[in-house]
Amino acid sequence: MQTIVYRAKGNIYLNITNRCSAGCTYCVARLGGRVFGYDLRLTEEPPVEEILRELELEFLEGPANEVVFVGLGEPTMRLDVVLAVTEWLKLRRISSRLDTNGHGQLINPGHEVAAELAAAGLDAVSISLVAHNTEVYNQICRPVFSKAFRAVLKFAEDCIKEGIRTELTLVELPEVDIEACRSIAERMGAGFRVRPLISAGSEEVRH
Ligand code: SF4
Repeated sequence: MQTIVYRAKGNIYLNITNRCSAGCTYCVARLGGRVFGYDLRLTEEPPVEEILRELELEFLEGPANEVVFVGLGEPTMRLDVVLAVTEWLKLRRISSRLDTNGHGQLINPGHEVAAELAAAGLDAVSISLVAHNTEVYNQICRPVFSKAFRAVLKFAEDCIKEGIRTELTLVELPEVDIEACRSIAERMGAGFRVRPLISAGSEEVRH
């Protein structure tokens, strides 16, 4: 059986897609797809009904601090699913967070992604900044979109404007200027967090 819902660090995590608009050099998918001992490789993407059914079962095991869209891919590849599940959580007063590469608006050009997430009731977003400029960003993240770095910054600004608690994150790599990244987050009014480089199976995927 594939892992759609899993629990770690007091949170419940949702693995809704393995598809992604990037190919980061440090992605857990490249390390075998195991996170906290769970194999997150999906043979097929679960429909909303299956996700909600598994969530209900998981909550029978006890409460969680928050429910996090994270997966082994980019959750906004399935924006409709993220919105539907977020609404379900909001109705039940359960905190929700989206961990994303920030390409959501590029992936879903017909949508106002930040506004729609806010309207659905998303509480928080954690956006992978990756690097301090376009050149280093493209080297590490290898996005399918040519203007992805600018789009990530814009998406973060949009989320802040919409009142979603917003944090920029990055993985500690020698080519990344961490202080310059911190300044970007501060100027924007976003939170900021540096993550150590993960090893296979030891950490959650957070882009
Ligand atoms: S954005 Fe996340 S899921 Fe996509 S390649 Fe990078 S680390 Fe992997």
